[in-house]
Amino acid sequence: MDLDEIKEHKHGPKWNSEASDMLDEGMIDEIAEFTEDLDEFTRNMESRSIYLKDNIPKLLDYAKRHIQYIKELNIPESNKLIDFPTTDRSILASYPWKLVPDDLDYSGLIVYNTAGTTGEPVSVPQHPISVAAYCNLLLRALSFWGIEHEFLPEKVGIALVGFQKYTITFPCILKSLNNTIFLKINLNEEDWRDAYDGYRFLSDVKPEILTGDPLSFSKLAHLGDQIKYPPIRPKALITTAVALSDGVRKRLEEAFQAPVIDWYSLTETGPIGYKCKLGHGYHVLSHDIEIEILDKTGNPCKPEEVGEITVSGGRNPYFPLIRYRTGDYGKLNFEICPCGDPMPRIFNLEGREPVQFFTIDKKIINNADISAVLKPFPIIQFTFHQDSKGACELKVKFASGVQQPSKEELREVICEVMGKNISLNVIIDPNLGERRSSGKVIPFSADIPLFYE
Ligand SMILES: [Zn+2]
Repeated sequence: MDLDEIKEHKHGPKWNSEASDMLDEGMIDEIAEFTEDLDEFTRNMESRSIYLKDNIPKLLDYAKRHIQYIKELNIPESNKLIDFPTTDRSILASYPWKLVPDDLDYSGLIVYNTAGTTGEPVSVPQHPISVAAYCNLLLRALSFWGIEHEFLPEKVGIALVGFQKYTITFPCILKSLNNTIFLKINLNEEDWRDAYDGYRFLSDVKPEILTGDPLSFSKLAHLGDQIKYPPIRPKALITTAVALSDGVRKRLEEAFQAPVIDWYSLTETGPIGYKCKLGHGYHVLSHDIEIEILDKTGNPCKPEEVGEITVSGGRNPYFPLIRYRTGDYGKLNFEICPCGDPMPRIFNLEGREPVQFFTIDKKIINNADISAVLKPFPIIQFTFHQDSKGACELKVKFASGVQQPSKEELREVICEVMGKNISLNVIIDPNLGERRSSGKVIPFSADIPLFYE
């Protein structure tokens, strides 16, 4: 099946865009080099540390000469991370040029606009290489999951499935992945001739791997429930949501008969980690990022302490990461994992700053405790808010096509952590998230100020 046949498929979507991977010969060689390095420097922790000891000081030295934000600070003679300031999304949103090096050829510049869950919308400079490297990192994760891939030319290797009001859609060829075909589609009804064509199309073109968020996958599974059509059978589902609930995971694994692999990635940083096959945290994917765990003031946390995940290095020449604060929280663990991947792991990964809640007798409850009791339910999105008088509101949106728990069941588990006497309003809202253009919601919020503020 070539690209034209995909474009004109009888169940295909109304493609609204065209794209290419923008890779030229030189870049393909660079990707091959990245692949070799990835293999060599992720073999054990010594090889990774050799790579970082060699390359991070070089990066910092380069930053002092070519990145405006760092240049302005006149950092004295030092090539140690700790002597450099942290950077974050707000700097990227306000002064992107201060973080883009000044000595490059900008003809390969790609700009990604991203909404994010907590921060302001931001434009992220990308390079064809940083985009293509995504595939190599995916291959690495698949191999530790024991998934044999082919990625053949004239076959669909990867389909990125979305479900939102509007997003660009296109098929293209991935030169760095054996010329396999990549699809970006949107399950939104208006994108198709028939409401169920999204399912029929994917069933016909047989993508090897599906990537997307749980909401989109759940929509796809639901479409499949409603029609008689050969089932979609990818080798794996790569899901971009951290803390996928067990209920939704089970639902997706049953619907597609494939493992669901959680993927931790930010537009700004590229992929950072994937969920260990044995469920022991998230393994760091690549050799070229140094991860620090920092506290609120920017100081390194003690080992085993949860703090903000901060990343340096990477493979994006237009946006080299200098102590970039991700806004996500977790802790690092260097023990060797029995799954066979020697790379360090991130534990307690929470995609946002911890929020604290209070019981009636002023006992502190962490948002992770609320996440934990909600985990068994097939919840796609939720919000939990406590107002200044202590009253709580839980809004949930369930995966479609599953047995939905009652409000009472949800109330019961929340009371297990917040106490029986808590004032609690439970709302089941099938439209949760749809009022925001990004479709994402901020799960935890509280009007009560935190103790340490
Ligand atoms: Zn592992």
